[in-house]
Amino acid sequence: MSKTDYYDLLGVERGASEEALKKAYRKQAVKYHPDKNPNDTKAEAKFKEISEAYDVLKDPNKRATYDQYGHAAFQNGMGGGGRSSGGVDPFDIFRDAFSGGGGGGGIFEDIFGGGGGGGRSSGGAQQGSDLRYDLEISLEEAATGTEKQIKYRRHCQCKACNGSGAKAGTSKSTCSTCNGNGQVTSNRGFISFRQVCPACSGAGQTIDSPCNKCNGEGRSIDSSTVKVKIPAGVHTGSRLRSSGNGEAGVGGGPAGDLYIIVVVNEHELFERHEDDLFCEIPIKFTLASLGGTIHVPTLFGKGNLKIPSGTQTGTTFRLKGQGMPHMRGGKGDLLIRIQVEVPKKLNKDQTEKLEAFADACGDAGNPVSKSFVEKAKKFFK
Ligand SMILES: [Zn+2]
Ligand SMILES: [Zn+2]
Repeated sequence: MSKTDYYDLLGVERGASEEALKKAYRKQAVKYHPDKNPNDTKAEAKFKEISEAYDVLKDPNKRATYDQYGHAAFQNGMGGGGRSSGGVDPFDIFRDAFSGGGGGGGIFEDIFGGGGGGGRSSGGAQQGSDLRYDLEISLEEAATGTEKQIKYRRHCQCKACNGSGAKAGTSKSTCSTCNGNGQVTSNRGFISFRQVCPACSGAGQTIDSPCNKCNGEGRSIDSSTVKVKIPAGVHTGSRLRSSGNGEAGVGGGPAGDLYIIVVVNEHELFERHEDDLFCEIPIKFTLASLGGTIHVPTLFGKGNLKIPSGTQTGTTFRLKGQGMPHMRGGKGDLLIRIQVEVPKKLNKDQTEKLEAFADACGDAGNPVSKSFVEKAKKFFK
């Protein structure tokens, strides 16, 4: 299900000012507020969507990320949830699919049905968002596996302050509102509430002189390069996770992950069905009739195919093991479908020879046509 663009949801232009966003959000929120639309689940869903859109767009950093990567940057299920444990990971072929990389550069694993990063950790630290990168490769590359370098922009840890957010040479100081606890307690009647400290957003520390490169955020947008190893046999939609190469975290939080979504481009000659390849090859009607050997293209070079005499259009030959490799070893097949090509124009000499051929044949040699003619005769009686 594709999500509606956040700007469209709020009904504003992409370049809308913060003030315009706020105004648009208020207008929509009032319209769809559950209090105004009791028992209307559609309005409620819309209200949630609008709130989510505004939540992202009101934050300049989130907005910049959204402008660059769209919804993928905030997709649930691609991030939070905690890595799944227990059971065998059927796709651990993707582990170590990556080498080197811009940031974390650590362990890499696939995410099929798997979990994600640890989500938000306590103490005001916030995990960076996950990012998505669509990587196009050719069918040949999918067949052999390949290595690609991906260049993309993301929030990286600020080099000027090493991610602390405090100007070089200065340090953070303990938040005076919460005494470094990150939480404050307020009493209402007999009940006391604990809430995140509003002064330091739960970090327990405040920055007196913010780093002027990142304005105290501890991260800034920069370009990153990651080397990706694509295993042989990948499909369109195969996802690879590059752990820690998403957006840098805030306040000491861990970085998000980078997800590479593989797109295998269509091929001129071969059509892929799972791990089998299909190819349609036209042959002359004389060859179909007499038989012979033809050269056929395979993904791995030239191959030979024996055409038996009397081969019909639609006959399919299977070349074992000439298809795409399976992710777990073994290979699919190459299926070649024959298309018998009848000449559209004949010269005088050819016509005469074919006519002589037809006379020589009579009804023999065409059992299918003969039986059809007999059935049709019966039908008309
Ligand atoms: Zn900085
Ligand atoms: Zn505080």
